[in-house]
Amino acid sequence: MKNSIFFNLIAAIVFMLGFAACQKDELDPAAVYFSDAELAEINDNTCLTVIPDDLATTFDETPPTEGIEERATGMKNKFWPTGGTIRVKFLNGSAYLQNKVMQYAEQWEQNANINLVKVTSGNSEIRVNFSSEGNFSVLGTDAQAVSQSQKTMNLALTDNSSEAIIRRKALHEFGHAIGLTHEHQSPLANIPWNVPAVYTFYEQIGWTQQKVDQQILTKKTWAQTQHTDYDQQSIMQYPVAAQLTTNGFSITESTQLSTTDKNFIGRIYSNQKIKVRHAANTTYAITFWLYGIYHTIQPGESMWVPAKTSGNQLSIWECIGNNCAWDGYAPPYGYNYKIVSQGSNGNLTLAYD
Ligand SMILES: [Zn+2]
Repeated sequence: MKNSIFFNLIAAIVFMLGFAACQKDELDPAAVYFSDAELAEINDNTCLTVIPDDLATTFDETPPTEGIEERATGMKNKFWPTGGTIRVKFLNGSAYLQNKVMQYAEQWEQNANINLVKVTSGNSEIRVNFSSEGNFSVLGTDAQAVSQSQKTMNLALTDNSSEAIIRRKALHEFGHAIGLTHEHQSPLANIPWNVPAVYTFYEQIGWTQQKVDQQILTKKTWAQTQHTDYDQQSIMQYPVAAQLTTNGFSITESTQLSTTDKNFIGRIYSNQKIKVRHAANTTYAITFWLYGIYHTIQPGESMWVPAKTSGNQLSIWECIGNNCAWDGYAPPYGYNYKIVSQGSNGNLTLAYD
């Protein structure tokens, strides 16, 4: 909030100066330079989580998004088993701080069928360290590959951190820990980035252009994620300053789970699912939408996906020649399904499996 007021003020000054001096649309690079104190604050509040890019892109059409209300983004195949127990061990920190972080982490648990349990000895899935090293977390089940002697999450928090900052960092990093990626990198994110300004901004906290590309500008692919439409209110969204976009668009930092964060995690970590299999005669991945979430499946792949117990609407993105559109179905709950080719012109259809 403090930053956004500052950003708006600077943006207004830059606008006036720019208008008087050169009447160009280009952003004055001075708009994105900050004092050491401001940089320290930005650095302290920036999530450094690196989202793995280990799945190939096989889907390059962009389905339309009209009429979709639900939004959030998770990395496919990184979620923990539904109903499972995830043990959380703190490597340091006061009892006060540990309890605060755990209290906020449990907001995820309250919305999803997972059990976050604090342990003080033995093995654990999530290991939390407090230090000024920055904020980051290993993504979802990738934590299983981390040695038990190593942290999987770092939080730049102290006993003096404000309630809102503890809440934001705990909710955001635990979002990563249960499989969520950054919302500004959703396949459907539509932030009008001013790329040179973004590079200049993050350069000041030591990020290379390559790192900015990886962490900020590059969207995840449809095949990498299970996601809904783009949710600016998500706890997994970075704040976006107006001078980092081409048209003054900005996003204020969230410190709470959004309605869609709760709905999405609840559906992903639920046993109320139907199975859908890619059985079409194509070498391409297929994207379909069901119960507010887009899923992309590879040839031969099956997925259990969240569904309502009645009244399901399932849409398959299909292209016949250059003509692409959503093809809608109403599959009853309680059955398995397959997507198959109908003829050889690219027409797909949903069938019982
Ligand atoms: Zn993050």
